[in-house]
Amino acid sequence: MNPPLAIDIDGTMSREDRSIEGRIFDTLRKWEGTIVIATGKAVPYPIALCEYIGIDILVVAENGGIVVHHNELIPTFDTSSLSEFDKAFRGDGHDYGWPGSDLVNRWRQTEIAASHSVSLDLLKEYADQFDLNVVDSNYAYHIGPSKIDKGIGLRTLATRLNLDPLDFVSIGDSDNDIPLFLSTGTSYAVSNAPSSVQSMATNVTSLPSASGLLEVLSSLQTR
Ligand SMILES: [Mg+2]
Repeated sequence: MNPPLAIDIDGTMSREDRSIEGRIFDTLRKWEGTIVIATGKAVPYPIALCEYIGIDILVVAENGGIVVHHNELIPTFDTSSLSEFDKAFRGDGHDYGWPGSDLVNRWRQTEIAASHSVSLDLLKEYADQFDLNVVDSNYAYHIGPSKIDKGIGLRTLATRLNLDPLDFVSIGDSDNDIPLFLSTGTSYAVSNAPSSVQSMATNVTSLPSASGLLEVLSSLQTR
């Protein structure tokens, strides 16, 4: 049996243009072991990805604010402060910087994502008032509770799966993956990760993004 995995999506399974690297589909589908998809994205994205890869739906979404265990959605905190933040921020005439109907936030349940075009200082000013945190995933700013992260999400899901989070191997590329790295016994930063992220992982791949992920998977399989 291969070790259980906790894998980020964007920047880790993707190419530079954000599309998913095709080779990871067959490699993950054939993986003999647990796979948890751990992402900053809203739940429909990782659920769909699991469906299309052909693996069990085991998901840490929204940076740990919610986990999905097969057909069950499990939020990891009370979301009322987030509603208050949203009311105040948009009530003062600000928006989150997404075009059209804001599909980025439409399915988010436990956090709000703002585009990098929005002032980080402004977001932090409002977030502080509601004891919320702002995390940069390199894709967006994520406003959510200060005590939530991918590590908490993984530990919540691991308990449900009757697995020790320390037995997991985690793979990621961004600041929001650091708590995931710290929750697992073995961690890999892909080589495109900033040096501040690489320094928090137990290992760094020699190749970037999905090529780095495939490098990790092939090394773990031949152990
Ligand atoms: Mg990422």
